[in-house]
Amino acid sequence: MTPLAPGATVGILGGGQLGRLLALEAAKLGFDVHIFCPESDAPAARVSALHTKANYRDEDALKAFAAVCDVVTYEFENVPVESVHTIESAGTMVRPGAKSLEVSQDRLVEKTFLNEIGIPTVDYCTIETGESLDVALAGFGSHGILKTRREGYDGKGQIMLGGARGKDGLEAARTLAKDVPCILEDFAPFEREISVIVVRGDAETLVFDAAENHHESGILRRSSVPAQISDGIRKAAHHAGQTLAEALGHIGVLGLELFVMPDGKLLANELAPRVHNSGHWTPDACDTGQFEQHIRAVVGWPLGPVTRRFDVVMENILGPEIAGVPADYSGADRLVSYGKRGAADRRKVAHVTRRIGPVQ
Ligand code: AMP
Repeated sequence: MTPLAPGATVGILGGGQLGRLLALEAAKLGFDVHIFCPESDAPAARVSALHTKANYRDEDALKAFAAVCDVVTYEFENVPVESVHTIESAGTMVRPGAKSLEVSQDRLVEKTFLNEIGIPTVDYCTIETGESLDVALAGFGSHGILKTRREGYDGKGQIMLGGARGKDGLEAARTLAKDVPCILEDFAPFEREISVIVVRGDAETLVFDAAENHHESGILRRSSVPAQISDGIRKAAHHAGQTLAEALGHIGVLGLELFVMPDGKLLANELAPRVHNSGHWTPDACDTGQFEQHIRAVVGWPLGPVTRRFDVVMENILGPEIAGVPADYSGADRLVSYGKRGAADRRKVAHVTRRIGPVQ
């Protein structure tokens, strides 16, 4: 696309912390940001020039939003695909496009797509009734993870089955599987979890160094870089990220989460068609961070270098831990707070990064 000049308006669907961090970077590059989200007091809206408070399915509001934005992007993957089509039909480009949403909104579509483009995932099967759950579970040696096909995040909509952790889950899983379409995933006895953050612009695709991720109760707690993996695994992970961005025709940043298996094989867990929590270290350790890269890509600018200058650890601050800010985190190199009202239990409310030392 013809690069947008500073002064143009970037629209963002979604008003959470990712939108807020994107909006701040867009502002630094000289763009006005217009947030579209249903909440009135959203973290992103409070740092942006403009805010449309409307439902994502409000066609008139979407058309009016499209009319005043020069390009539109999104900060979360559950934006209805139809909303993207409405904005595009009104003549405004949405970057990344609908395809990245379509693939990432449904775990079955996502896993099928990943395998088709040569990025293997754990074994899985579709679950439509409580009965098929029992049959499928037996096929995986009586253990696995039941996940809703849509709208799960941070371990929500998931039930671990089998083994010590899954003793009580079967009844709950049968009920869940009767209510909503699910998939059953084989349990991956991974050695570690890593992710790659990819940015694809009009002219090139770049990949940030892989991060190693540590979860607690399904929520990302900490990302450290470099990941403790061999060069071969690192290259394979970067290659998978690049392949995915190109296969989707994705413009902007995406995150790909991978399991490293004991034999060194990589299995994709899930993709996020947006800036990603496990990339929050990038602004502090790299020449150009993920938020600036995403804005550069969607406005048609050349990307910045992704060269990493520091070894780094990023830690999420959850819910009530915000009470410890800033005292508990005084040793951190960077504290980023999301300005969320009310610190609901275990919600991500801020993060810190610590530079361990320069890359040797
Ligand atoms: P998800 O929401 O799918 O990213 O899952 C959250 C976390 O649950 C992952 O980061 C893993 O730690 C764990 N997990 C998810 N799926 C599996 C699986 N098939 N096998 C083992 N652990 C899993």
